[in-house]
Amino acid sequence: MKSATAIDAARVELLLAELRLPAIKLVWSDLAAQADKEGWPAARFLAALAEHEIAERGRRRIERHLAEARLPPGKTLDTFDFDVVPMVSKAQIIALAAGDSWLEKGANLIMFGPPGGGKSHLAASLGFALVENGWRVLFARTTDLVQRLQIARRELALESAIAKLDKYHLLILDDLAYVTKDQAETSVLFELIGARYERRSLLVTANQPFGEWGKIFPDQAMTLAVVDRLVHHATIFEMNVESYRRRTALERKRGPGRPPASATIKANV
Ligand code: ADP
Ligand code: MG
Repeated sequence: MKSATAIDAARVELLLAELRLPAIKLVWSDLAAQADKEGWPAARFLAALAEHEIAERGRRRIERHLAEARLPPGKTLDTFDFDVVPMVSKAQIIALAAGDSWLEKGANLIMFGPPGGGKSHLAASLGFALVENGWRVLFARTTDLVQRLQIARRELALESAIAKLDKYHLLILDDLAYVTKDQAETSVLFELIGARYERRSLLVTANQPFGEWGKIFPDQAMTLAVVDRLVHHATIFEMNVESYRRRTALERKRGPGRPPASATIKANV
């Protein structure tokens, strides 16, 4: 015959499964043994179980948010060498990774610079840190996202496709300037930027300064409207450095690289 304790234990397992408390289900018997042995008050035992479930749920939520963020792998702040971009302050990036000062008001970040300067890496690593801090992020190549939105538009579902992106506190539009100048394409981008204005943040990377954006959008008015909305509450990083790939390849040959050509940061949050 089973002991009363064994029967209780079997009931607990069933009840916890029914209540969908998988984290408690895993640890309760060890904790119960410890509580019995050390004579814990019942409230302490219950609190320990609840804390464990909450911590596990938090961990699983972040795991889900990391998966949905589609960040390129391996691009973290730990692997980003701030020494090669002296115009970007590590302290400022770490402050931005907390999120609250800018994501809550839908402010934007814009990263300019020539190819290979570390824009995508820095954007992705900031995205990663934000997810770890509890925010929801989506990293997208701008051309891919524009294509998805165009398909939605054809299916008369553009508005709801844009609304679905609202769940992301930060949308990273990587390589905005690679979008081709095609009326239908860029007008979905125009609508996306307008819809998020002052509500939800964007991080845009581009290897063309604003002056060249006339090549992205079909007309002057649309370009001006986009730039206006993006910069109204924005921090702009100008990462005018030599390509990191080229620099590291050259360094292997000739020793340390040249200092960067220019160093400017404009902040206008
Ligand atoms: P961009 O998006 O500006 O064209 P990337 O971020 O793609 O440049 O950088 C090109 C490559 O060099 C990537 O593999 C990236 O991880 C690496 N890289 C660039 N800048 C840095 C940096 N400051 N520290 C470490 N790796 C870097
Ligand atoms: Mg890039």
